[in-house]
Amino acid sequence: MDISLNQVEFAYGDEDFRLQIPELKLAAGSHTAFVGPSGSGKTTLLRLLAGITQPQSGAIQIGDYSLQSLSDANRRAFRIKHIGFVFQDFRLIEYLNVQENLRLSYRVNEALNLTTEVNTRLKSLANELQLTDKLDATIDTLSQGELQRAAIGRALLPKPKLILADEPTGNLDPSNKSRILDLLFAHAAANHATLVMVTHDHALLNRFEQVVDFEEFHKKESTNA
Ligand code: ADP
Ligand code: MG
Repeated sequence: MDISLNQVEFAYGDEDFRLQIPELKLAAGSHTAFVGPSGSGKTTLLRLLAGITQPQSGAIQIGDYSLQSLSDANRRAFRIKHIGFVFQDFRLIEYLNVQENLRLSYRVNEALNLTTEVNTRLKSLANELQLTDKLDATIDTLSQGELQRAAIGRALLPKPKLILADEPTGNLDPSNKSRILDLLFAHAAANHATLVMVTHDHALLNRFEQVVDFEEFHKKESTNA
């Protein structure tokens, strides 16, 4: 899905953080890295792209969807149908085991059918993520790296057209980092998906066609005073 942002402005209540994005375009099927200091709004922009939060002004177009003109219910439906979100803090469900977590989208989305094909895909994805022997494990027994890989598997299983990954390699050792990046790129390519990834890993940046530095969007009121 092609993505375009126009004159987007977002603030949290009366906090002095302010995200201002005059224009940003991400081509369908492209790979974009978001970089910038902690607190510069990278996660906030992923949440805006997913329709989890709404900007105070401006337009966000994702494929055929103008997020600002959808109702809350339709924005949620859009998100469940098209977005694979890898949360920085994983957001796995503690009372479900690993494979139930991987299938979570199929529980909450009536439009997704849990077919035998999906279960076959789950097994192969678990294998790629080296989670095969963890499928029946409970979440509280996983290491940080395993939690991260489970969160990635959950996001990828429904074949989303837009993958939003918030520091998905942050808890992995160097060899796992490049393996996971290969996996994200391969899944994006197989589904013609657009990939947006937040990273602090400058060694990975040469693999992205576009690098967006948030320094540029993070203008506090005081800098204009
Ligand atoms: P990054 O992902 O680049 O580290 P974030 O998008 O998480 O940055 O945060 C940007 C700014 O917004 C920070 O100053 C952060 O403290 C603030 N912030 C994030 N989430 C909230 C929230 N739910 N309510 C109020 N302020 C928030
Ligand atoms: Mg963040």
